[in-house]
Amino acid sequence: MWASIEPQTPIILGDVRGDSQFLTTRHYIPARAVRGAWANGLARQGKNTEEILRTVDSLRIGNFFPAPAWRELRYALPLPMSAMSCKRKGGFRTAPDPDQRGHGVVDTLIPRLAYRLLEAKGAHFAVPFALSCRECGDRMEPESGFYSVHRYGNQSAYLAFRPRFHAQTKVAISRHRRAAVESMLYTASALSPYTSHPEKDEETRIHFVGRIDFTKDDEGRAWSSLQRILNDGLSALGALRTRGYGRVKIVETEISLPTLKERVEGFNQTLHKLWRELRALALNSHNLPAEPPEGVYFTVDLLAPGVLRDEHGLPSLMLTLNLGDQTLQPLLGITRPDMASGWCVAWGLPRPTHLAARIGSVYAFHWEGDLEKALPYLEALEREGVGQRREEGFGECLICHPFHLEVEEK
Ligand SMILES: [Zn+2]
Repeated sequence: MWASIEPQTPIILGDVRGDSQFLTTRHYIPARAVRGAWANGLARQGKNTEEILRTVDSLRIGNFFPAPAWRELRYALPLPMSAMSCKRKGGFRTAPDPDQRGHGVVDTLIPRLAYRLLEAKGAHFAVPFALSCRECGDRMEPESGFYSVHRYGNQSAYLAFRPRFHAQTKVAISRHRRAAVESMLYTASALSPYTSHPEKDEETRIHFVGRIDFTKDDEGRAWSSLQRILNDGLSALGALRTRGYGRVKIVETEISLPTLKERVEGFNQTLHKLWRELRALALNSHNLPAEPPEGVYFTVDLLAPGVLRDEHGLPSLMLTLNLGDQTLQPLLGITRPDMASGWCVAWGLPRPTHLAARIGSVYAFHWEGDLEKALPYLEALEREGVGQRREEGFGECLICHPFHLEVEEK
């Protein structure tokens, strides 16, 4: 199911880093922040550590992504790292407010993949792969952050999430206990519960949407326990919660993300279309196959940092998959390094920091076989995530992110 978290007060979703004077906030709610708040509330209800862990483990909680409260939300996600926009005037062209409108955001993953697959078949192109803005001809640069898709009349409006920040507060916090102490002074910046209205010159509330799945039989009880603790104010999210930050309400919600099968089929159709278009541009097109090699092409898109290991168990930014009897290496990977930090839910102690592949990282794979055989494995990947520390929300992923289909400016 999908749930929506509505902040009632400013919220600080960050970790205090050892080398920093700043307590900055993330723009999304990591799964571990929800688990942490829930565990805290259970402790206040007098539950012991064993009961807390058992209860918190009975729900699989995903990461929650921001969107303005405006019209009907279809879904909210991080942009994949293959998304690009005009260097001169970046941003979605479907945004209703002309002040927020740009020359469009486009995804480059499928064109790059088609180009690479054709090159592997010996295609010669007169020019290297490059994209320029359709509107002004300027260069494109990577576009990152979170976006949401809303029903807008008969069409869809794409909105980039524009965070607002609450006035900075000087606070002293212990890195170890997250309690106020006199010796360390931090500057905290909190995410406001409001953002600019997509149509009018006023503000609107934000909410965060994410996945919650049941892993045990007592799902109803666990879900109502989480709701009661957050909605009754028994606990709050993020840092400085004892000072009134991070109060939220959580409710079940409806999201209309295309199904896994629809996304994989759409991905392969678009890949075939771009193969044909690019093949026609090759200098030796008559020597090239009319269609890409058979099988299923798909991507794994990280919705959270991924703590990945290579086949020798060493930290890596690349993702290798074992699906059934096939070991798959990426045909194409777009990633950058990040750090996975966090706090232990039960003990309030910092966890070790690991190298991680950044949120939005994308890896393209080829499965030899038909889609019906691949689907159960792909479903399991989406349900369980990839890499390590998944219970904290790291490695949450989506197969064939819907934005990969946007090969023309949105
Ligand atoms: Zn432009």
